[in-house]
Amino acid sequence: MSNKDVLVFEIEQAKGKPRDIKKKADYCPFCDTEHLTNVIDQKDDMIWLENKFKTLQDTNQTIVIESHDHNGDISNYSVAKNREVFNYIYDCWNQMIQTKKYQSVLMYKNFGPMSGGSLRHPHFQIIGLDKVNGYKHVEPENFTGMKVFENKHIDVNISEKPVMGFVEFNIVINNPKYLDDLAEFARVTVKYILDDFYGGKFDSYNIFFYRDGRKIICKLTARYVVSPYFVGYRLSQRDGDKQMGEIAKVLLEKFHRLVKSAEINNLE
Ligand SMILES: [Zn+2]
Repeated sequence: MSNKDVLVFEIEQAKGKPRDIKKKADYCPFCDTEHLTNVIDQKDDMIWLENKFKTLQDTNQTIVIESHDHNGDISNYSVAKNREVFNYIYDCWNQMIQTKKYQSVLMYKNFGPMSGGSLRHPHFQIIGLDKVNGYKHVEPENFTGMKVFENKHIDVNISEKPVMGFVEFNIVINNPKYLDDLAEFARVTVKYILDDFYGGKFDSYNIFFYRDGRKIICKLTARYVVSPYFVGYRLSQRDGDKQMGEIAKVLLEKFHRLVKSAEINNLE
């Protein structure tokens, strides 16, 4: 198998990587902004920098620190702050894509102990892959599904063919100019995942971004122990129609409150 097909992990580089989730006394490098190195760009308290611990071969691993607040999260940002974060990460991601130096550029976020993240401080990852097409196993059907909300330029649905499963929310805008709305729908969905979804039993989530022409797709999913069906057979799972319908209904009620409160501008 060539490096075109897999990401190669380098253990030496991972040594000394700070992990603060289990040991709360550990030092947080993202709070200590004065000692950050290899900063690429900064806007207010958001900082784009190179990842000090480059664990993957043939990649450019970068990080966007979202906020100076160690305990900040999409679920507790103000509407304005959250929109700033989404606009900034999009700009950084787009800049990296525009360099045309990479086979593909991934952007995603880990939150919580089950998400694969090692630092609590809120951040996104933007990774340029020199040789690997990171989108090879993702298909358009992974972004469609049971409708939650839809208008002329935004579509929110629950995957009927998730990448892994089991409940994946897709927020699709047909043009980057609607990023503010995407940010709002994502904020409400993250809050729903952490507070309400299955009685609030989840403390971890992931967000992934994809592009398809001018379309921007944001996939949000609660995290749990990965199913052996996926580990051994790459078989994804989804909830049954009835359960999905109930989730869609509750989430739509939250969106309606959002629309009524006029935090969304372009919903005609
Ligand atoms: Zn911190």
